[in-house]
Amino acid sequence: MTGELGGSSPAAPEARRPLWASTAIINGRAIARVRFTSDDGGRIASVEHDVDARADDRVLGTVVPGMANAHSHAFHRLLRGRTHADGGDFWQWREAMYAAAASLDPVLYRRVARAVFGEMLVSGWTAVGEFHYVHHQADGIPYPTRHAMELAVSDAAVDVGIRLTLLDTAYLASGIGPAGGPATPLLPEQVAFGDGNAEGWLARWHALRDTLAATHGSTGLVTLGAALHSVRAVPIDAMRTILASLPADVPLHLHLSEQPQENVDTLAATGNTPTALIAALGALEERLSLVHATHLTDADIEAIGRARATIVMCPTTEADLGDGIGPARRLADAGARIAVGSDQNAVIDPFLELRGLEAGERLASGRRGRFTPTELLTAGTAAGYESLGLGRHTLAVGDPLDLVEVNTTSLRTTGSDPAQLALTATSSDVERVVVGGRVVAERGRLTGRSARPETLLAEAIVALGSST
Ligand SMILES: [Zn+2]
Repeated sequence: MTGELGGSSPAAPEARRPLWASTAIINGRAIARVRFTSDDGGRIASVEHDVDARADDRVLGTVVPGMANAHSHAFHRLLRGRTHADGGDFWQWREAMYAAAASLDPVLYRRVARAVFGEMLVSGWTAVGEFHYVHHQADGIPYPTRHAMELAVSDAAVDVGIRLTLLDTAYLASGIGPAGGPATPLLPEQVAFGDGNAEGWLARWHALRDTLAATHGSTGLVTLGAALHSVRAVPIDAMRTILASLPADVPLHLHLSEQPQENVDTLAATGNTPTALIAALGALEERLSLVHATHLTDADIEAIGRARATIVMCPTTEADLGDGIGPARRLADAGARIAVGSDQNAVIDPFLELRGLEAGERLASGRRGRFTPTELLTAGTAAGYESLGLGRHTLAVGDPLDLVEVNTTSLRTTGSDPAQLALTATSSDVERVVVGGRVVAERGRLTGRSARPETLLAEAIVALGSST
């Protein structure tokens, strides 16, 4: 299926072999000489501690659980290194992002997503939540092939071997509108994102679920989740309709209070903060992941914590766009779970997201150790997997056998306590990456492929340039 795209062809998955690690970081502790076996679905069948490797084992060095990128817009990667000359703010950056979105079609989108997901894999992200809203042609007309853009994303993930939760996004309005009035219609540059109304989005979502099950069900790599883009992009009645019809076990994501303007507009229109608004709609619950949550009131923090919702902090993006520093520690203390995401993909490096989470806290509080190394690793692994509907991820029997091997003797990591690698390593230290018991990346390369992710990216950027 990749013949028309050029670049490398999908490799046949390698056979699963038992994996032996000289050290495995499990629940924050460095455990020596750990041997894993997996079942036919790539889940851990057995874990042994302090044992020798056997003849057929694949021998690894120090491993941590695979990392979950709980918030990504793959195509935003196209803007990396091209938006810094003119300064500006989030809203100015958004104009450049709309231009990039308008240049996509299914073939190009798949090409971009494959390259970006490849970059994620070699960098240590073993799962990604793709917050996907470019559903239709630039004029809003659906593509002739149903779900063409969603299949572009899911095909790309399966092609490189990353675990994908496709967070198919409802995006129906451009603003929340005046008090008592209707929401503001989509702008011309947003019509590709829309489905008309809540019923239109729901019909497409349910059909997509069947299509993905038929297309990728056997791979075990693709999960369908759902997203409301934000309280400014989905009218209140539409949110109510969607929430009433979405199955209860589906992970639900929402951008929340990234910018003060969203709070101002929501308060003016409804008298509520965005958090209070979604709480009033009954959406503030454990399956909900709130992305950013940068500008919150004390009452917002308390309500989110009480619901045990997940916050997906995106530290490198929030810094890049000048969003501000969200109250991560206070949210965690209130009961929220903290995950991380690369969002606009100006940076693709799980370690830098974790470091950014802690760095923001230190800069804002004047204190070190706001999150322990174990808490940081949990945010990057178990909390992210749960946020994406992927279940428990603690390297116990029954969990996915997803691992990242980290070089502990590089310039950055030599001398580090293995349990503190989250504060010293970068993606440059990622050696091998395991998804579902198979090695899918090794020292910057996708296993079994000739093209490196940077080559795929360069080809995608050239192809986009020649299409516009
Ligand atoms: Zn986002």
